Amino acid sequence: MPDSLTPESADPADVLHRVFGHAGFLGQQEAVVRHVTGGGSALVLMPTGGGKSLCYQVPALCRRGIGIVVSPLIALMEDQVAAMRQQGVAAAALHSDLPPEEARGVLRDLHQGRLKLLYVSPERLLLDGTLQRLSEMPLALFAVDEAHCVSNWGHHFRPEYRGLSVLGRMFPDVPRLALTATADPRTAEDIRAQLDLTEAPVFRASFERPNIAIEGMPREQEFRQLLSFVREVGGTGIVYCATRARTEMVADRLRGEGIEALSFHAGMEAEAKREAHRRFARGEQVVMAATVAFGMGIDRPDVRWVVHLNMPRSPESWYQEIGRAGRDGLPARALLLYSAADIALSRHHIEDSSAEPEQKRIERQRLDAMVAIAETAECRTRLLLRCFGEEAAERCGHCDNCASPPRVFDASVAAQKLLSAILRTGQRFGAKHILDVLRGRATEKVLQFGHDQLPTFGVGKDIADAEWQGIIRQMVARGLLDLAEVGQHGTAPAMTEAARPVLRGEEKLFLRAADAPTPRRAETATP
Ligand code: ADP
Ligand code: ZN
Repeated sequence: MPDSLTPESADPADVLHRVFGHAGFLGQQEAVVRHVTGGGSALVLMPTGGGKSLCYQVPALCRRGIGIVVSPLIALMEDQVAAMRQQGVAAAALHSDLPPEEARGVLRDLHQGRLKLLYVSPERLLLDGTLQRLSEMPLALFAVDEAHCVSNWGHHFRPEYRGLSVLGRMFPDVPRLALTATADPRTAEDIRAQLDLTEAPVFRASFERPNIAIEGMPREQEFRQLLSFVREVGGTGIVYCATRARTEMVADRLRGEGIEALSFHAGMEAEAKREAHRRFARGEQVVMAATVAFGMGIDRPDVRWVVHLNMPRSPESWYQEIGRAGRDGLPARALLLYSAADIALSRHHIEDSSAEPEQKRIERQRLDAMVAIAETAECRTRLLLRCFGEEAAERCGHCDNCASPPRVFDASVAAQKLLSAILRTGQRFGAKHILDVLRGRATEKVLQFGHDQLPTFGVGKDIADAEWQGIIRQMVARGLLDLAEVGQHGTAPAMTEAARPVLRGEEKLFLRAADAPTPRRAETATP
C-alpha cells in the first residue's frame, strides 16, 4: 500500500523545488527548515508575507509521519489545504464548521495514513479523541500558526490556544514549531513559556518592509487629507476608521467623488460582509473603508496603500494593518492621521476597560509607543522596529521623516527645565503637575508639596502646555524620559540615564516643532 507518511525525499532543497517550484529558500527559511527537519523545536518570528508556511510545510514533507498545523482561522486553513492539494500534497482540514460526514472522512483518512498534512483548529485538536488518535500515529511535527494567540499580552488572545501547552507533555519527541508575525519581545517570551519552547532557538527575520513608505501627520481636515492622498496614490487601498458609522460615511463620500469604495465592519449582515470580501479579493480596483475587523486573512498582493484615520492602539496593530499593503513587493504607502483627541480617547478606553491592572499597564505602554511613532521627528521605521526588539539603521530612507526631515527646534534649554522640574519633584508626579510647576500655576497640589518654592517654579511660562506635552512625548519617544507608573492610573515622567548629557548641557536636543492638531469631537470606537 502506498504510504503517504513516508517522505518521498528527506532533502529540503529537493522538496522545495519539486513540490513548491521555488528556486531557493528566502531569509531564515533554510535555517528553520534544517533545524526542524532534524527534529528540533523552534519559535519563528517573521513578518506577514515573510514565508512562514514553508517553514513547517517543507519539514513536514521531509519527515516521516503526518504534520499537524494548528491554525485559528478556518478561511486560512481552507486556502492552505487547497494550495497544498494543488501541489499534490495529501492535506486536509479539521474544524468545527465541517459537516459531520466530512469530518468523519478526514478522520478516516488520518487513521489510514492517507494524509501528510492536517490543518486543525485548536478546539478540535484538543478533543480527547483527536489527541488519542494522534498519539497512535507517527507525527512529523506540530506547527502552531498565529502563535501569538497563546499570549494574553497579544491582541488576539484565544483561550483555547492555552490548552496547546499539553502538546509538549504528550508528545515530547515531536518537534514543535510556533510561528507568528507578532514580534514584541513580551509576546515572544510568553509564547515560549506557554508552548514549552524556552530551550528552543528563536529564528527572527527583520520586520522592516522596505517597500512601504510610511508617513504620519496631524489630522486637520480628515476627508480632504484622505481624498488628496487617494487621488495621489491611486489603486486599491484600505482606510481604517475608528467606528462603523464612519466606514459607511467615508465610503459614501468617496463614491460621491467618483471613487469606487466599499465599507466593511463587524456589524454588517453576514451576506454583505461576504460580498465586500469577495469584491475585494477578486482584484477589483476599490477603496475599502473598514474597521479593524477587516483584514485578518486578506491575502491580496496588490493593495497599494493603507490609511489610518485615527491613532491605532498599538504599534503591533498598526504594523499588522499597514502590512496588508505592498505584499507583492512593489512600492506601497501607509498614512497615519492622528490627533490629540485620539490619544486622550484611547487612554480613556484603557482606563475604563475591565482589564487587569497589569494588562492596562501594558496597553498604556503600547499606546505611548504608538504616540511616540506618530510624534517623532526621527525615522519612524526605526522606532517601530524597536517595538519589536529590532535595532534598525538610523534612517530607513522610506518614511516621511527620512524623505524630508521635519522642522525642528533647539529644545535643549526647555528639556533642562523639564528634567530639573521632574528631578526636583522626586520623579513621582504626573505630567500635569510638572507643567503646573513649570508654568507657575500655584494649584492646591503645588502648594501642598511646596513646589511653588522650587527654583524651577514658573521657568517654563514662555512655552504653551500643548508644546510642553509635545516635548514630553518626544522625549519619551527618544528614551530620554520613562513613564513610570504611579498610583492607580497615573504615569510620572522620570529621567533616564540617556538624558544626563542633555541635563548637563553636554548634548543638544532638537525636537519636532509643534504643529498643534485641532481637537475633534470624540467618538466611541467600535471595531
Ligand atoms: P506568511 O505566512 O509568513 O505570511 P507565506 O508563507 O504565505 O507568508 O508566504 C508569502 C508569499 O511568499 C507566498 O506567496 C509564498 O509563495 C512566497 N514564498 C515563500 N517562500 C518562498 C520562497 N522560498 N521562494 C519564493 N516564494 C516564496
Ligand atoms: Zn525612516
